[in-house]
Amino acid sequence: VETRRRLNISVEAEGEDFVTITPIESFVDMNVHAQIQQDIVHKGYDKPTPIQAQGTPVALSGRDILGCAETGSGKTAAFAIPMIQHCLESPPLRRGDGPMGLILAPTRELAQQIEREVRDFTRTSSKEVRSTIVVGGTNMGEQRGDLRSGVEIVVATPGRFIDHLRQDNTKLNRVSFVVLDEADRMLDMGFEEQIREVMRSLPEDHQTLLFSATMPVEIEALAGDYLNKPVRVKVGQVST
Ligand code: ADP
Ligand code: MG
Repeated sequence: VETRRRLNISVEAEGEDFVTITPIESFVDMNVHAQIQQDIVHKGYDKPTPIQAQGTPVALSGRDILGCAETGSGKTAAFAIPMIQHCLESPPLRRGDGPMGLILAPTRELAQQIEREVRDFTRTSSKEVRSTIVVGGTNMGEQRGDLRSGVEIVVATPGRFIDHLRQDNTKLNRVSFVVLDEADRMLDMGFEEQIREVMRSLPEDHQTLLFSATMPVEIEALAGDYLNKPVRVKVGQVST
C-alpha cells in the first residue's frame, strides 16, 4: 500500500474492496504460462512496471479494466500478456473463425509497435497464437489472406478493420478479449462510431480492456456503455 501511494497508483471497482491485491514484484508471481514467461525473460523485462504489476493480474483474473496511464508506462505488455494467455487457454480456432483477441489502436505506427510486442511474447507459442496487423495504407489483399488463413490476434486501426468486416474477410464470432488502446486518441481521430460498431457486434461473452491517457467524459461514456463492472487501474496523475 505504501508503494502504491508513492507511485500514485489506485486500483478500485465500484462497491468492491481491492486492498487485498498485493503488489506484484515479479512476472514469475503472476501465474503466467511457462511459454510466455520464457518470452518475457528473453525480452529482458526483469520487473513489471506499475501498470503491469497492478493491471496484468487483474486482467488475468478475467475482469474488465479501465486503465489510465501515461505514455511509456508499459501498457502494451500489461494487456498483451493476458490476451496471449487467454488465447492459449481457449479452444482452438476452427476453419472460418475470426480472431479471439482484437486490439484497436489509433494509428498504423502504434498498431505495428503493438503487433511486434505481441510477436515477442509469442515466440515460443507462435504456432498456437498467431497474429496479424490490419491498418490503412497497405495492401488490402495481403491482409485478407492473413485474416482468412486464421489468426488468434488481430491488431488493427478501426477504419481498416471495419472495411475487412464489411468485405467478410474476417468475423467477430470468436472475439472474446478486446483491447481499446489509446482510446482518447482514437476518439480525437474520429473513430468513435467505428469503435461502437465493433463493440455492439461482439459475442456476448468477452473481456474488455480500455486504456486511455486522459479520462474525459467521452471516455467515461464509452466505458459505461461497453465495460462490465470494470476495475479502474490508475497510474500517475490523470487529467480529464
Ligand atoms: P505505453 O504503451 O504505456 O506507452 P509501452 O508498452 O510502449 O508503453 O512501453 C514503453 C517502453 O518500455 C517500451 O520500450 C517497452 O519495451 C519498455 N518496457 C515495458 N515494460 C517493461 C518492463 N517491464 N521492463 C523493461 N522495459 C519495459
Ligand atoms: Mg502504448
